Amino acid sequence: MEYKQLSMKPTKKIALVAHDNKKQDLLEWAEFNRDLLAQHELYATAATGKLLTQELDLEIVKLRSGPLGGDQQIGAKIADGNIDFLIFFWDPLEPQPHDPDVKALLRIAVVWNIPVACNRASADFMISSQLMSTRYERLLPDYGDPGEQTPAPVA
Ligand code: PGA
Repeated sequence: MEYKQLSMKPTKKIALVAHDNKKQDLLEWAEFNRDLLAQHELYATAATGKLLTQELDLEIVKLRSGPLGGDQQIGAKIADGNIDFLIFFWDPLEPQPHDPDVKALLRIAVVWNIPVACNRASADFMISSQLMSTRYERLLPDYGDPGEQTPAPVA
């Protein structure tokens, strides 16, 4: 497998998503890490973003609600190089109407080799990494895509 590199800047483009039973977990985690998160570009699905904005006064680009296409919007941004970090507290104990979207989002995050945290411990380890504040050369597998291979990140 051939690889290409995509440079992740010190300011990361972070997507935050939490299913309803996990929103409190995400809120507590984000509150603890608020100052650090505020140094990055934040995106979230609608209800998650609304909660974090209201409670923590964070500037967040809000997408559609997850069940209404928000997960797919995040997936598209990952494929376009416009999200490079995913905090996704999905609920392992409740069926979700948009389960295919959840799976698709997790899959596309792996395809594009972005860091993903699906629970608080993973999120703690990820956000405390020294790489959060540095440039990081992310390896992208060369899938031989006839379309544009390397997404052009928005400056
Ligand atoms: P929400 O979507 O933030 O709009 O609740 C999250 C999800 O269910 O994926």
